Amino acid sequence: MQQYDLIVIGAGSGGVRTARQAAAKGWRVAIAEERFAGGTCVNVGCVPKKLMSYAAGFPHLFELSKGFGWSWAQSPSLDWATLKRNRDEEIARLQAIYRRLLDNSGVHWFEGHASLESAHSVGVGETILSADRILIATGSSAWLPDIPGKEHLAISDVLFELPSLPKRVVVWGGGYIATEFASILNGLGSDVTIVHRGPHVLNRFDQESAQHLHDSLKQQGIRMCMEATIASVSQLANGYQVTLGDGETIAADIVFCAIGRIANTHSLGLDKLGITLDAHGNIVVNQASQTSVPSIYALGDVTGGAQLTPVALREGMNLIDQWFNDGRKPLPLDLIPNAVFSHPCYASVGLSEEAAREQHTEVLVFRSRFEPMDHSLGDFPDKVFIKLLVDARTDRLLGAHMIGEGAAEVIQGVAMAMACGATKSALDATLGIHPTVAEEWVTLREPS
Ligand code: NDP
Repeated sequence: MQQYDLIVIGAGSGGVRTARQAAAKGWRVAIAEERFAGGTCVNVGCVPKKLMSYAAGFPHLFELSKGFGWSWAQSPSLDWATLKRNRDEEIARLQAIYRRLLDNSGVHWFEGHASLESAHSVGVGETILSADRILIATGSSAWLPDIPGKEHLAISDVLFELPSLPKRVVVWGGGYIATEFASILNGLGSDVTIVHRGPHVLNRFDQESAQHLHDSLKQQGIRMCMEATIASVSQLANGYQVTLGDGETIAADIVFCAIGRIANTHSLGLDKLGITLDAHGNIVVNQASQTSVPSIYALGDVTGGAQLTPVALREGMNLIDQWFNDGRKPLPLDLIPNAVFSHPCYASVGLSEEAAREQHTEVLVFRSRFEPMDHSLGDFPDKVFIKLLVDARTDRLLGAHMIGEGAAEVIQGVAMAMACGATKSALDATLGIHPTVAEEWVTLREPS
């Protein structure tokens, strides 16, 4: 039996970071992975999605450029094979980097499905490893509901395998993945329909901002089937027939299902050890990322918190601090900036207006809708939308929301200010950079 200080199950963002940092501190570390180094984020999530999102942004830029005098002999066209090949090469490069980083830090790599044998041992195939501590960082997978034709539903991973751009696309859901995929495929040239149970996409976000994005996506030609559900999917000679709850049918070449993800706990041996799960199947952990078995820890998507790479990384770093730095306080996870990489992008940090009004007695709302300068030499209906929520009693910023190209880059800066405890007066005292979209954040004068 091989003996380690730490065994990590799952080589995604959180698992790799924790394994490398622990090895750098001198621990003997093993990591087990059954699919690919880098996990969902690198291989079938954030990274390839963002590359696809860049690709989808070009048609708008081509249109913009006309007002600035550009013209070309032939209309630009997308070569899907080139996009796919270049994207896949980049992902392979990153995957190799992840493997190299692990090897260089002395982490032992075990390929295969790992499952818990005891509170201190893990089996990977025929090999049994033992350790003082075990960390479960196995992530999550798309959830598919039991409807007739469930086998015809595509999960988000499939986008990256498609040999060509699908012509007719149905996307089920109104969250991060559904909104991003719909926007990407619409931008690349597919006919896209979103089927969603809510009144608009992104129900759980700031309602006014979500409605602004919803209207923009609709205006760009995405068909919005709201307050609707998919009752069944059947195969046709060429494609699929989607039947909605009210009996309407939609023909599609692919039907993406993006109605949430579930923790990857299957065949991990959790029941054998009595590890506690919550009602949704997520591993329950305490403040120290410890499961109900003290030597076994868990982090990231598998624990059911915010399913975001920076959150898993932070949880990993907090574990390292806890294990090596003797009681240093864990860094906070209460202010999570995030972005939906649609076109336009919706980024936010802090509370929605709805949550702010629930939690604070007096909330000031500053908002602005304006035409970005790069739109001024053409005729484009899209406006940038920004919204700032301030606690009237303390002047502290409670939430910031922005919809517009580059929103994620701007909101990262606002998130830094909020992490420093910024007030509205501090924003007022900040000089703008002129002329920019971002300067609007420091010129918001009157609440509305
Ligand atoms: P989300 O939780 O974002 O959205 C799920 C969507 O499915 C919601 O619109 C929800 O509606 C709907 N839904 C849930 N249950 C049902 C049901 N039974 N029937 C019909 N609709 C249902 O999940 P995603 O799958 O889009 O993404 C998973 C996670 O991955 C995200 O939560 C996010 O943390 C992460 N992610 C982050 C990205 C980023 O940072 N840019 C990109 C992609 C994913 P309702 O709102 O009404 O509940």
